[in-house]
Amino acid sequence: MKILVINCGSSSLKYQVINMEGEVLMAKGLVERIGMDGSCITHEKIGEDKVKKEVPMETHKEAIAQVLDAIVDPEHGVLKDMSELGAVGHRVVHAGEKYAHSVIIDDDVIKALEECVPLAPLHNPPNLLGIAACRELMPETPMVGVFDTAFHQTMPPESYIYAIPYRFYEKYGIRRYGFHGTSHKYVAERAADIMNCNLDDLKLITCHLGNGASVSAIKRGVCIDTSMGFTPLEGLVMGTRSGDIDPAIVTYMRQAENLDQGVANEILNKESGVLGISGVSSDFRDIEAAAEEGNERAQLALKVFAHKVRFYIGAYIAEMNGVDAIVFTAGVGENDMGMRDIICNDLGNLGIKLDVVKNRVRGKEMIISRDDSPVKIILIPTNEELMIARDTLKLVKGIA
Ligand code: AMP
Repeated sequence: MKILVINCGSSSLKYQVINMEGEVLMAKGLVERIGMDGSCITHEKIGEDKVKKEVPMETHKEAIAQVLDAIVDPEHGVLKDMSELGAVGHRVVHAGEKYAHSVIIDDDVIKALEECVPLAPLHNPPNLLGIAACRELMPETPMVGVFDTAFHQTMPPESYIYAIPYRFYEKYGIRRYGFHGTSHKYVAERAADIMNCNLDDLKLITCHLGNGASVSAIKRGVCIDTSMGFTPLEGLVMGTRSGDIDPAIVTYMRQAENLDQGVANEILNKESGVLGISGVSSDFRDIEAAAEEGNERAQLALKVFAHKVRFYIGAYIAEMNGVDAIVFTAGVGENDMGMRDIICNDLGNLGIKLDVVKNRVRGKEMIISRDDSPVKIILIPTNEELMIARDTLKLVKGIA
């Protein structure tokens, strides 16, 4: 079966076509500036050069129509016609407490996802627009929703309940949800394969370190804790997000500079993290270059980032009473050998021993711990699209 995977943002949309026979990526692309001047689609048939086309796209429906044109295009397309497409898998950020698994999308699912809009006001509305557009343009094609929050729904209450009056959980659903679930699940499954073990026998700590970053504790294939919380702001220090801070700082900051709520939110989400500390950039490559030239705040940003990852690794080892493997994934986790080195430095007493030579690798599946390390350290490039396509296939075939 050939599956279209859609990840729809407010003004952009990423897509892939995957042939599930052999799990082969056939085409991928990006639509940018939906509803703005200069909207364009960049399409790539795998093995060929990218083709970029500027075309006005006022709405998500027009954007999806361009995607469908591109994938059946006689020259650059990968399908003879739309009847070859078996299903569409949609990435959806927030499914609240409603779904612990991916589901076939019907009117009830859409209603449930609409109810989650207050929990993810920036993400769920464009996700829903993408689903609506696809249902209109392909009414006969089955659609599946795959949720960032779903994998974390297995957390026990002591991991997800905040110590604020209980009514805030009951009335408003304020609790830890966790995000990046599709990525954590994918790398956990790959780690078990690479280790030649059953996932049910393993204790894993998965570190998704990208521009957004989170760590999960996965025991016997089930997520028992994760660093992101009610929103993706909690947890690790990120590119531009603060991660954990004393909640009293928010009120204090607002008073000190007379900031309204929106501005405070913007500061914590867009001006903080390693960008906020370093004043250089949110991109680790820029920060590392500045640190090497002696920029002390850049050096500090890297140290604070690593400190927080180590903090969570330690916490999750305690929660699981041990760990069999630590997995690194996403932009920083996959590419930044220097950062992996700092994170894993001097953890020998916990049985975590990085092999500094094997660690000199980028973007490829590999065990990078020493042969005598009781805990494996594994680098695994994430593949959320493939995970979405796998769930979609299972559900459409009725085997999930
Ligand atoms: P992601 O959100 O997973 O796409 O990760 C994006 C981030 O990965 C970028 O902002 C960079 O900070 C980081 N990154 C990508 N490549 C490298 C690299 N070669 N070295 C260090 N950091 C990198």
